[in-house]
Amino acid sequence: MRVEVDRDRCVGAGMCVLTCPEVFDQDEEQGRVLLLAAAPGPERRPAVTEAAEVCPSGAITVHPDGTRAPADTPGRA
Ligand code: SF4
Repeated sequence: MRVEVDRDRCVGAGMCVLTCPEVFDQDEEQGRVLLLAAAPGPERRPAVTEAAEVCPSGAITVHPDGTRAPADTPGRA
């Protein structure tokens, strides 16, 4: 699993930090998201997926296969 955050989209709501503090933090100046672990282990998948779902600005992207989204994989329907 690979995680990306878009700090330009982040509005500092902090939902990700509440949901999965092992992977997400916020900077002290603007409260924008900081990524603590770009490739968290599979045990973090439920919390990371939930964090992406609850983020109000869509600033979190999760790539479950660790490389790119399945829809981008050539040869797949
Ligand atoms: S939940 Fe989204 S908007 Fe809120 S701090 Fe995290 S990344 Fe930023």
